[in-house]
Amino acid sequence: RTARIGVTGLATMGSNLARNLARRGYTVAVHNRTQTKTRELLDQYGDEGTFVEAATLADLVAALERPRQIIVMVKAGAGTDAVLDELAELLEPGDILLDGGNAHFADTRRREAAMREKGLHFVGTGISGGEEGALLGPSIMPGGSSEAYEQVGPVLESIAARVDGEPCCARLGPDGAGHFVKMVHNGIEYADMQLIAETYDLLRRGSGLEPAEIAEVFRTWNEGDLESYLIEITAEVLAHVDPVTGKPFVDVIADRAEQKGTGRWTVREGLELGEPVAGIAEAVFARALSGHVEQRAAAANLPGPAAPPKLGTDFVDDLREALYGAKLAAYAQGFSMITEAGREYGWDIDLGATARIWRGGCIIRARFLNRITDAYKANPELVNLLVDDYFAEQIGRAQEAWRRVVSVAAAAGVPVPGLSSGLAYYDSLRAERLPAALVQGQRDYFGAHTYQRVDRPGSFHTRWSQGRDEVEA
Ligand code: NDP
Repeated sequence: RTARIGVTGLATMGSNLARNLARRGYTVAVHNRTQTKTRELLDQYGDEGTFVEAATLADLVAALERPRQIIVMVKAGAGTDAVLDELAELLEPGDILLDGGNAHFADTRRREAAMREKGLHFVGTGISGGEEGALLGPSIMPGGSSEAYEQVGPVLESIAARVDGEPCCARLGPDGAGHFVKMVHNGIEYADMQLIAETYDLLRRGSGLEPAEIAEVFRTWNEGDLESYLIEITAEVLAHVDPVTGKPFVDVIADRAEQKGTGRWTVREGLELGEPVAGIAEAVFARALSGHVEQRAAAANLPGPAAPPKLGTDFVDDLREALYGAKLAAYAQGFSMITEAGREYGWDIDLGATARIWRGGCIIRARFLNRITDAYKANPELVNLLVDDYFAEQIGRAQEAWRRVVSVAAAAGVPVPGLSSGLAYYDSLRAERLPAALVQGQRDYFGAHTYQRVDRPGSFHTRWSQGRDEVEA
Protein backbone atom coordinates (compact mmCIF):
# COMPACT_ATOMS: atom_id res chain seq x y z
CA ARG A 1 0.00 0.00 0.00
CA THR A 2 1.32 3.43 -0.83
CA ALA A 3 0.83 6.53 1.28
CA ARG A 4 0.33 10.07 0.01
CA ILE A 5 2.51 11.61 2.71
CA GLY A 6 4.74 10.56 5.59
CA VAL A 7 5.25 11.96 9.09
CA THR A 8 8.27 11.19 11.23
CA GLY A 9 8.41 12.32 14.85
CA LEU A 10 5.22 11.38 16.63
CA ALA A 11 5.32 13.42 19.81
CA THR A 12 2.49 15.89 20.45
CA MET A 13 2.82 17.89 17.25
CA GLY A 14 3.69 15.11 14.82
CA SER A 15 0.98 12.70 15.95
CA ASN A 16 -1.68 15.41 15.83
CA LEU A 17 -0.57 16.52 12.36
CA ALA A 18 -0.65 12.89 11.19
CA ARG A 19 -4.19 12.53 12.55
CA ASN A 20 -5.23 15.80 10.92
CA LEU A 21 -3.93 14.49 7.59
CA ALA A 22 -5.63 11.12 8.01
CA ARG A 23 -8.94 12.76 8.94
CA ARG A 24 -8.74 14.74 5.69
CA GLY A 25 -8.59 11.47 3.79
CA TYR A 26 -4.87 11.18 3.06
CA THR A 27 -3.15 7.87 3.56
CA VAL A 28 -0.40 8.73 6.02
CA ALA A 29 2.75 6.72 6.65
CA VAL A 30 3.89 7.24 10.23
CA HIS A 31 7.25 6.73 11.88
CA ASN A 32 8.89 7.50 15.19
CA ARG A 33 12.40 6.70 16.42
CA THR A 34 10.93 4.91 19.43
CA GLN A 35 8.52 2.58 17.73
CA THR A 36 6.19 2.07 20.69
CA LYS A 37 4.91 5.63 20.09
CA THR A 38 3.90 4.72 16.55
CA ARG A 39 2.01 1.72 17.92
CA GLU A 40 0.32 3.85 20.57
CA LEU A 41 -0.85 6.33 17.95
CA LEU A 42 -2.33 3.57 15.81
CA ASP A 43 -3.91 1.77 18.77
CA GLN A 44 -5.61 4.92 19.95
CA TYR A 45 -6.46 6.72 16.73
CA GLY A 46 -5.88 4.21 13.93
CA ASP A 47 -9.60 4.23 13.10
CA GLU A 48 -9.59 7.95 12.29
CA GLY A 49 -8.22 7.30 8.81
CA THR A 50 -5.74 5.24 6.85
CA PHE A 51 -2.28 4.94 8.35
CA VAL A 52 0.70 2.91 7.24
CA GLU A 53 3.00 1.92 10.09
CA ALA A 54 6.71 2.30 9.32
CA ALA A 55 9.24 0.69 11.65
CA THR A 56 12.26 2.42 10.15
CA LEU A 57 12.92 5.50 8.03
CA ALA A 58 13.68 3.13 5.15
CA ASP A 59 10.20 1.62 5.57
CA LEU A 60 8.73 5.12 5.65
CA VAL A 61 10.44 6.01 2.39
CA ALA A 62 9.39 2.73 0.80
CA ALA A 63 5.75 3.34 1.74
CA LEU A 64 5.40 6.64 -0.12
CA GLU A 65 4.09 7.64 -3.55
CA ARG A 66 6.59 9.53 -5.69
CA PRO A 67 7.70 12.20 -5.53
CA ARG A 68 7.77 11.45 -1.83
CA GLN A 69 6.61 13.98 0.73
CA ILE A 70 7.78 13.64 4.32
CA ILE A 71 6.98 15.93 7.21
CA VAL A 72 9.73 15.90 9.85
CA MET A 73 8.31 16.84 13.26
CA VAL A 74 11.17 16.07 15.62
CA LYS A 75 12.94 18.07 18.27
CA ALA A 76 14.52 21.16 16.74
CA GLY A 77 18.33 21.28 16.46
CA ALA A 78 20.52 18.18 16.45
CA GLY A 79 17.50 15.82 16.34
CA THR A 80 16.32 17.41 13.11
CA ASP A 81 19.79 17.21 11.54
CA ALA A 82 20.11 13.53 12.47
CA VAL A 83 16.79 12.64 10.87
CA LEU A 84 17.38 14.80 7.78
CA ASP A 85 20.80 13.28 7.18
CA GLU A 86 19.44 9.78 7.37
CA LEU A 87 16.48 10.58 5.12
CA ALA A 88 18.64 12.36 2.54
CA GLU A 89 20.50 9.07 1.98
CA LEU A 90 17.24 7.22 1.36
CA LEU A 91 15.42 9.71 -0.87
CA GLU A 92 15.68 10.38 -4.61
CA PRO A 93 15.92 13.64 -6.55
CA GLY A 94 12.59 15.44 -6.67
CA ASP A 95 11.42 14.18 -3.28
CA ILE A 96 10.24 16.74 -0.74
CA LEU A 97 11.35 17.02 2.87
CA LEU A 98 9.35 19.36 5.06
CA ASP A 99 10.68 20.44 8.45
CA GLY A 100 7.72 21.54 10.58
CA GLY A 101 9.74 21.99 13.78
CA ASN A 102 10.74 25.26 15.36
CA ALA A 103 14.00 25.57 13.45
CA HIS A 104 16.04 28.75 13.42
CA PHE A 105 15.77 30.21 9.93
CA ALA A 106 19.56 30.22 9.53
CA ASP A 107 19.56 26.42 10.07
CA THR A 108 16.79 26.16 7.50
CA ARG A 109 18.85 28.12 4.97
CA ARG A 110 21.80 25.82 5.56
CA ARG A 111 19.68 22.67 5.31
CA GLU A 112 17.88 23.87 2.20
CA ALA A 113 21.18 24.48 0.42
CA ALA A 114 22.51 21.04 1.43
CA MET A 115 19.33 19.29 0.28
CA ARG A 116 19.25 21.22 -2.99
CA GLU A 117 22.76 19.89 -3.72
CA LYS A 118 21.28 16.40 -3.52
CA GLY A 119 18.36 17.33 -5.77
CA LEU A 120 15.89 17.26 -2.89
CA HIS A 121 13.32 19.93 -2.09
CA PHE A 122 13.49 21.25 1.44
CA VAL A 123 10.45 23.08 2.75
CA GLY A 124 11.22 24.79 6.08
CA THR A 125 7.79 25.36 7.53
CA GLY A 126 6.69 27.34 10.55
CA ILE A 127 3.68 25.79 12.25
CA SER A 128 1.79 27.61 14.95
CA GLY A 129 -1.17 26.59 17.03
CA GLY A 130 0.28 24.11 19.49
CA GLU A 131 -1.26 20.74 20.14
CA GLU A 132 -4.83 21.69 19.33
CA GLY A 133 -3.89 23.62 16.20
CA ALA A 134 -1.91 20.68 14.83
CA LEU A 135 -4.99 18.48 15.13
CA LEU A 136 -7.76 20.86 14.14
CA GLY A 137 -6.00 23.31 11.84
CA PRO A 138 -2.81 25.26 12.48
CA SER A 139 -1.43 28.33 10.79
CA ILE A 140 1.21 27.03 8.36
CA MET A 141 4.10 29.15 7.11
CA PRO A 142 6.11 27.28 4.46
CA GLY A 143 9.29 28.45 2.80
CA GLY A 144 11.12 26.64 0.00
CA SER A 145 10.79 26.57 -3.76
CA SER A 146 7.53 27.25 -5.57
CA GLU A 147 8.04 23.95 -7.37
CA ALA A 148 7.91 22.13 -4.05
CA TYR A 149 4.92 24.17 -2.95
CA GLU A 150 2.99 23.16 -6.04
CA GLN A 151 3.25 19.57 -4.81
CA VAL A 152 2.89 19.88 -1.07
CA GLY A 153 0.95 23.16 -0.84
CA PRO A 154 -2.50 21.71 -1.54
CA VAL A 155 -2.02 19.11 1.20
CA LEU A 156 -0.90 21.75 3.70
CA GLU A 157 -3.71 24.08 2.75
CA SER A 158 -6.24 21.35 3.31
CA ILE A 159 -5.13 20.71 6.90
CA ALA A 160 -4.63 24.38 7.87
CA ALA A 161 -7.08 26.54 9.79
CA ARG A 162 -9.61 28.35 7.60
CA VAL A 163 -10.94 31.88 7.97
CA ASP A 164 -13.64 33.20 5.63
CA GLY A 165 -13.09 30.08 3.53
CA GLU A 166 -9.40 30.84 3.02
CA PRO A 167 -6.67 28.51 4.29
CA CYS A 168 -4.19 29.89 6.83
CA CYS A 169 -1.28 28.64 4.74
CA ALA A 170 0.72 30.31 1.99
CA ARG A 171 4.20 29.95 0.56
CA LEU A 172 6.14 32.86 1.98
CA GLY A 173 9.39 32.71 0.02
CA PRO A 174 12.49 30.61 -0.57
CA ASP A 175 14.60 28.69 1.97
CA GLY A 176 14.29 30.21 5.47
CA ALA A 177 11.41 32.63 4.77
CA GLY A 178 8.77 30.47 6.45
CA HIS A 179 10.73 29.87 9.62
CA PHE A 180 11.69 33.55 9.72
CA VAL A 181 8.04 34.59 9.58
CA LYS A 182 7.19 32.04 12.26
CA MET A 183 9.94 33.52 14.43
CA VAL A 184 8.52 37.03 14.01
CA HIS A 185 5.05 35.66 14.75
CA ASN A 186 6.39 34.46 18.08
CA GLY A 187 8.11 37.79 18.72
CA ILE A 188 4.84 39.64 18.15
CA GLU A 189 3.16 37.09 20.41
CA TYR A 190 5.62 38.03 23.19
CA ALA A 191 4.88 41.74 22.70
CA ASP A 192 1.13 41.19 22.62
CA MET A 193 1.19 39.13 25.82
CA GLN A 194 3.34 41.69 27.63
CA LEU A 195 1.03 44.57 26.63
CA ILE A 196 -2.00 42.66 27.85
CA ALA A 197 -0.20 41.88 31.11
CA GLU A 198 0.69 45.55 31.66
CA THR A 199 -2.92 46.52 31.03
CA TYR A 200 -4.03 43.94 33.60
CA ASP A 201 -1.49 45.31 36.09
CA LEU A 202 -2.85 48.84 35.70
CA LEU A 203 -6.43 47.68 36.12
CA ARG A 204 -5.47 45.66 39.16
CA ARG A 205 -3.10 47.98 40.98
CA GLY A 206 -4.19 51.29 39.51
CA SER A 207 -7.96 50.91 39.39
CA GLY A 208 -8.20 48.31 42.15
CA LEU A 209 -10.30 45.85 40.16
CA GLU A 210 -10.36 42.17 41.09
CA PRO A 211 -9.26 39.51 38.56
CA ALA A 212 -12.84 38.39 37.94
CA GLU A 213 -13.84 41.99 37.16
CA ILE A 214 -10.84 42.41 34.89
CA ALA A 215 -11.85 39.21 33.11
CA GLU A 216 -15.14 40.95 32.28
CA VAL A 217 -13.27 43.99 30.95
CA PHE A 218 -11.25 41.75 28.61
CA ARG A 219 -14.39 39.90 27.54
CA THR A 220 -15.96 43.18 26.54
CA TRP A 221 -12.83 44.25 24.71
CA ASN A 222 -12.89 40.95 22.86
CA GLU A 223 -16.00 42.15 21.07
CA GLY A 224 -14.24 45.13 19.47
CA ASP A 225 -11.02 45.96 17.61
CA LEU A 226 -8.98 43.98 20.12
CA GLU A 227 -10.79 40.72 19.40
CA SER A 228 -8.14 38.01 19.47
CA TYR A 229 -7.26 34.64 20.87
CA LEU A 230 -4.84 36.15 23.41
CA ILE A 231 -7.48 38.54 24.81
CA GLU A 232 -9.94 35.64 24.96
CA ILE A 233 -7.60 33.34 26.92
CA THR A 234 -6.57 36.23 29.18
CA ALA A 235 -10.20 36.55 30.28
CA GLU A 236 -10.33 32.78 30.85
CA VAL A 237 -7.19 32.75 32.98
CA LEU A 238 -8.29 35.77 35.03
CA ALA A 239 -11.74 34.33 35.69
CA HIS A 240 -10.31 31.02 36.87
CA VAL A 241 -10.34 30.32 40.62
CA ASP A 242 -7.69 28.08 42.15
CA PRO A 243 -9.54 24.95 43.31
CA VAL A 244 -7.05 24.36 46.14
CA THR A 245 -7.04 27.77 47.83
CA GLY A 246 -10.17 29.41 46.44
CA LYS A 247 -8.03 32.39 45.43
CA PRO A 248 -7.91 33.92 41.96
CA PHE A 249 -5.75 31.54 39.99
CA VAL A 250 -3.48 34.37 38.76
CA ASP A 251 -2.55 35.06 42.40
CA VAL A 252 -1.22 31.59 43.05
CA ILE A 253 1.08 31.51 39.99
CA ALA A 254 4.70 32.48 40.72
CA ASP A 255 5.35 35.78 38.91
CA ARG A 256 8.35 34.61 36.92
CA ALA A 257 7.75 34.31 33.18
CA GLU A 258 9.83 31.77 31.29
CA GLN A 259 10.76 31.60 27.64
CA LYS A 260 11.81 28.97 25.16
CA GLY A 261 13.81 31.33 22.99
CA THR A 262 11.97 32.40 19.86
CA GLY A 263 11.33 35.89 21.27
CA ARG A 264 15.02 36.20 21.99
CA TRP A 265 15.80 35.02 18.44
CA THR A 266 13.55 37.74 17.05
CA VAL A 267 15.27 40.44 19.08
CA ARG A 268 18.74 39.17 18.24
CA GLU A 269 17.88 39.13 14.54
CA GLY A 270 16.28 42.57 14.89
CA LEU A 271 19.60 43.85 16.23
CA GLU A 272 21.48 42.24 13.35
CA LEU A 273 19.15 43.77 10.78
CA GLY A 274 19.11 47.17 12.49
CA GLU A 275 15.37 46.88 13.03
CA PRO A 276 13.84 48.69 16.04
CA VAL A 277 11.79 45.79 17.41
CA ALA A 278 11.63 47.55 20.78
CA GLY A 279 8.19 46.24 21.76
CA ILE A 280 9.37 42.66 21.33
CA ALA A 281 12.63 43.39 23.14
CA GLU A 282 10.78 44.95 26.09
CA ALA A 283 8.65 41.83 26.34
CA VAL A 284 11.72 39.57 26.36
CA PHE A 285 13.43 41.82 28.94
CA ALA A 286 10.32 41.97 31.12
CA ARG A 287 10.29 38.17 31.31
CA ALA A 288 14.00 38.17 32.10
CA LEU A 289 13.59 40.76 34.85
CA SER A 290 10.72 38.83 36.40
CA GLY A 291 13.12 35.92 36.88
CA HIS A 292 15.65 38.00 38.83
CA VAL A 293 14.19 36.95 42.15
CA GLU A 294 17.16 37.95 44.27
CA GLN A 295 17.48 41.43 42.84
CA ARG A 296 13.74 41.99 43.08
CA ALA A 297 13.75 40.97 46.74
CA ALA A 298 16.70 43.27 47.45
CA ALA A 299 14.98 46.19 45.70
CA ALA A 300 11.54 45.65 47.22
CA ASN A 301 11.91 48.50 49.70
CA LEU A 302 13.07 51.15 47.25
CA PRO A 303 10.70 54.10 47.38
CA GLY A 304 7.77 54.56 45.01
CA PRO A 305 5.61 57.63 44.37
CA ALA A 306 4.50 59.40 47.56
CA ALA A 307 1.01 60.06 46.26
CA PRO A 308 0.11 57.58 43.52
CA PRO A 309 -2.99 58.69 41.61
CA LYS A 310 -6.13 56.62 41.99
CA LEU A 311 -7.35 55.62 38.57
CA GLY A 312 -11.07 56.00 37.92
CA THR A 313 -13.23 53.67 35.89
CA ASP A 314 -13.25 55.97 32.83
CA PHE A 315 -9.61 54.96 32.73
CA VAL A 316 -10.70 51.58 31.37
CA ASP A 317 -11.51 53.12 27.99
CA ASP A 318 -8.15 54.88 27.93
CA LEU A 319 -6.47 51.58 28.62
CA ARG A 320 -8.23 49.88 25.75
CA GLU A 321 -7.00 52.60 23.40
CA ALA A 322 -3.46 52.41 24.79
CA LEU A 323 -3.38 48.65 24.41
CA TYR A 324 -4.62 48.91 20.84
CA GLY A 325 -2.13 51.64 19.92
CA ALA A 326 0.81 49.76 21.40
CA LYS A 327 -0.28 46.56 19.72
CA LEU A 328 -0.34 48.30 16.34
CA ALA A 329 3.17 49.61 17.03
CA ALA A 330 4.42 46.08 17.81
CA TYR A 331 2.89 44.70 14.62
CA ALA A 332 4.40 47.58 12.63
CA GLN A 333 7.81 46.65 14.06
CA GLY A 334 7.34 42.98 13.20
CA PHE A 335 6.24 43.66 9.63
CA SER A 336 9.04 46.14 9.11
CA MET A 337 11.48 43.48 10.25
CA ILE A 338 10.08 40.98 7.74
CA THR A 339 10.46 43.57 4.97
CA GLU A 340 14.06 44.22 5.90
CA ALA A 341 14.88 40.52 6.13
CA GLY A 342 13.39 40.10 2.68
CA ARG A 343 15.90 42.63 1.37
CA GLU A 344 18.78 41.06 3.26
CA TYR A 345 18.10 37.44 2.34
CA GLY A 346 16.58 37.89 -1.10
CA TRP A 347 13.04 36.87 -0.17
CA ASP A 348 9.99 38.57 -1.49
CA ILE A 349 7.58 37.92 1.33
CA ASP A 350 3.98 38.89 0.69
CA LEU A 351 3.12 40.80 3.86
CA GLY A 352 -0.59 40.76 3.07
CA ALA A 353 -0.49 36.97 2.82
CA THR A 354 1.47 36.82 6.08
CA ALA A 355 -1.28 38.70 7.91
CA ARG A 356 -3.92 36.60 6.17
CA ILE A 357 -2.48 33.28 7.34
CA TRP A 358 -2.16 34.60 10.90
CA ARG A 359 -5.91 35.18 11.13
CA GLY A 360 -6.59 31.63 12.25
CA GLY A 361 -4.88 28.66 13.86
CA CYS A 362 -1.97 30.52 15.44
CA ILE A 363 -1.48 32.20 18.81
CA ILE A 364 -1.74 35.80 17.59
CA ARG A 365 -4.85 35.12 15.53
CA ALA A 366 -6.97 38.24 15.58
CA ARG A 367 -9.70 40.00 13.72
CA PHE A 368 -7.73 43.14 12.89
CA LEU A 369 -5.23 41.14 10.78
CA ASN A 370 -7.73 41.48 7.94
CA ARG A 371 -6.94 45.17 7.99
CA ILE A 372 -3.22 44.49 7.66
CA THR A 373 -3.92 42.31 4.64
CA ASP A 374 -6.01 45.13 3.13
CA ALA A 375 -3.26 47.66 3.84
CA TYR A 376 -0.60 45.66 1.98
CA LYS A 377 -3.02 44.75 -0.78
CA ALA A 378 -3.75 48.43 -1.35
CA ASN A 379 -0.04 49.26 -1.28
CA PRO A 380 2.50 46.42 -1.42
CA GLU A 381 5.28 49.01 -1.00
CA LEU A 382 3.84 50.43 2.23
CA VAL A 383 6.90 51.63 4.15
CA ASN A 384 5.35 51.24 7.60
CA LEU A 385 2.03 49.80 8.68
CA LEU A 386 1.22 52.88 10.75
CA VAL A 387 1.13 55.19 7.73
CA ASP A 388 -1.56 53.16 5.99
CA ASP A 389 -4.73 55.32 5.88
CA TYR A 390 -6.76 53.03 8.10
CA PHE A 391 -4.06 52.45 10.73
CA ALA A 392 -2.96 56.10 10.72
CA GLU A 393 -6.52 57.04 11.58
CA GLN A 394 -6.77 54.31 14.25
CA ILE A 395 -3.50 55.07 16.00
CA GLY A 396 -4.16 58.80 15.68
CA ARG A 397 -7.41 58.28 17.55
CA ALA A 398 -5.75 56.14 20.24
CA GLN A 399 -2.72 58.29 20.92
CA GLU A 400 -4.21 60.84 23.34
CA ALA A 401 -5.56 58.13 25.63
CA TRP A 402 -2.31 56.19 25.22
CA ARG A 403 -0.35 59.22 26.48
CA ARG A 404 -2.63 59.56 29.50
CA VAL A 405 -2.08 55.90 30.33
CA VAL A 406 1.70 56.06 30.07
CA SER A 407 1.92 59.22 32.18
CA VAL A 408 -0.46 57.98 34.82
CA ALA A 409 1.38 54.64 34.98
CA ALA A 410 4.64 56.50 35.61
CA ALA A 411 2.96 58.62 38.30
CA ALA A 412 1.47 55.50 39.90
CA GLY A 413 4.74 53.57 39.84
CA VAL A 414 3.35 50.75 37.70
CA PRO A 415 5.89 49.62 35.09
CA VAL A 416 4.64 49.69 31.51
CA PRO A 417 7.76 49.03 29.40
CA GLY A 418 5.72 47.78 26.44
CA LEU A 419 3.09 50.52 26.42
CA SER A 420 5.66 53.29 26.88
CA SER A 421 8.16 51.92 24.41
CA GLY A 422 5.41 51.61 21.81
CA LEU A 423 4.50 55.24 22.33
CA ALA A 424 8.15 56.27 22.02
CA TYR A 425 8.31 54.34 18.73
CA TYR A 426 5.22 56.14 17.47
CA ASP A 427 6.51 59.56 18.50
CA SER A 428 9.97 58.85 17.10
CA LEU A 429 8.55 57.82 13.75
CA ARG A 430 6.45 60.95 13.46
CA ALA A 431 9.10 63.38 14.79
CA GLU A 432 10.17 66.00 12.29
CA ARG A 433 13.68 66.10 13.79
CA LEU A 434 15.23 63.44 15.99
CA PRO A 435 18.03 64.08 18.47
CA ALA A 436 20.02 61.62 16.37
CA ALA A 437 21.58 64.80 14.96
CA LEU A 438 23.18 65.47 18.34
CA VAL A 439 24.33 61.86 18.59
CA GLN A 440 26.09 62.24 15.23
CA GLY A 441 27.72 65.42 16.57
CA GLN A 442 28.97 63.57 19.63
CA ARG A 443 30.26 60.72 17.51
CA ASP A 444 32.13 63.12 15.30
CA TYR A 445 33.56 64.89 18.35
CA PHE A 446 35.07 61.89 20.08
CA GLY A 447 35.67 59.52 17.21
CA ALA A 448 35.83 61.59 13.99
CA HIS A 449 32.99 59.40 12.74
CA THR A 450 31.81 62.18 10.36
CA TYR A 451 28.28 63.40 9.68
CA GLN A 452 26.12 64.45 6.79
CA ARG A 453 24.58 67.91 6.50
CA VAL A 454 21.00 68.86 5.81
CA ASP A 455 22.02 71.53 3.30
CA ARG A 456 24.51 69.81 0.98
CA PRO A 457 25.63 66.32 0.00
CA GLY A 458 28.80 64.62 1.22
CA SER A 459 30.36 63.56 4.51
CA PHE A 460 32.00 66.03 6.85
CA HIS A 461 34.18 66.20 9.92
CA THR A 462 34.74 69.13 12.25
CA ARG A 463 38.27 69.39 13.64
CA TRP A 464 37.05 69.82 17.17
CA SER A 465 40.46 70.26 18.80
CA GLN A 466 42.07 72.14 15.90
CA GLY A 467 40.18 75.35 15.41
CA ARG A 468 36.85 73.67 14.71
CA ASP A 469 37.02 74.14 11.00
CA GLU A 470 34.96 71.75 8.91
CA VAL A 471 36.55 69.49 6.33
CA GLU A 472 35.05 67.21 3.76
CA ALA A 473 35.67 63.60 4.75
P1 NDP B 1 9.53 17.45 20.86
O1 NDP B 1 10.11 18.75 20.47
O2 NDP B 1 9.40 17.13 22.29
O3 NDP B 1 10.36 16.28 20.12
C1 NDP B 1 10.10 14.93 20.38
C2 NDP B 1 10.16 14.13 19.10
O4 NDP B 1 11.44 14.25 18.48
C3 NDP B 1 9.97 12.65 19.38
O5 NDP B 1 9.24 12.10 18.32
C4 NDP B 1 11.40 12.14 19.42
O6 NDP B 1 11.50 10.76 19.19
C5 NDP B 1 12.00 12.95 18.31
N1 NDP B 1 13.46 13.02 18.36
C6 NDP B 1 14.22 13.77 19.20
N2 NDP B 1 15.52 13.59 18.93
C7 NDP B 1 15.60 12.72 17.89
C8 NDP B 1 16.67 12.15 17.16
N3 NDP B 1 17.95 12.47 17.44
N4 NDP B 1 16.37 11.28 16.18
C9 NDP B 1 15.10 10.98 15.88
N5 NDP B 1 14.04 11.49 16.55
C10 NDP B 1 14.29 12.35 17.53
O7 NDP B 1 8.07 17.26 20.17
P2 NDP B 1 6.88 18.26 19.87
O8 NDP B 1 5.82 17.46 19.23
O9 NDP B 1 6.54 19.09 21.05
O10 NDP B 1 7.48 19.25 18.79
C11 NDP B 1 8.00 18.82 17.55
C12 NDP B 1 8.56 20.01 16.82
O11 NDP B 1 7.53 20.98 16.62
C13 NDP B 1 9.64 20.75 17.62
O12 NDP B 1 10.59 21.26 16.72
C14 NDP B 1 8.90 21.89 18.26
O13 NDP B 1 9.74 22.98 18.57
C15 NDP B 1 7.89 22.23 17.19
N6 NDP B 1 6.68 22.88 17.63
C16 NDP B 1 6.08 22.55 18.79
C17 NDP B 1 4.92 23.17 19.21
C18 NDP B 1 4.28 22.78 20.47
O14 NDP B 1 3.26 23.42 20.83
N7 NDP B 1 4.74 21.75 21.16
C19 NDP B 1 4.28 24.21 18.39
C20 NDP B 1 4.93 24.43 17.14
C21 NDP B 1 6.09 23.80 16.80
P3 NDP B 1 11.46 9.70 20.40
O15 NDP B 1 10.01 9.49 20.71
O16 NDP B 1 12.11 8.51 19.86
O17 NDP B 1 12.21 10.32 21.55
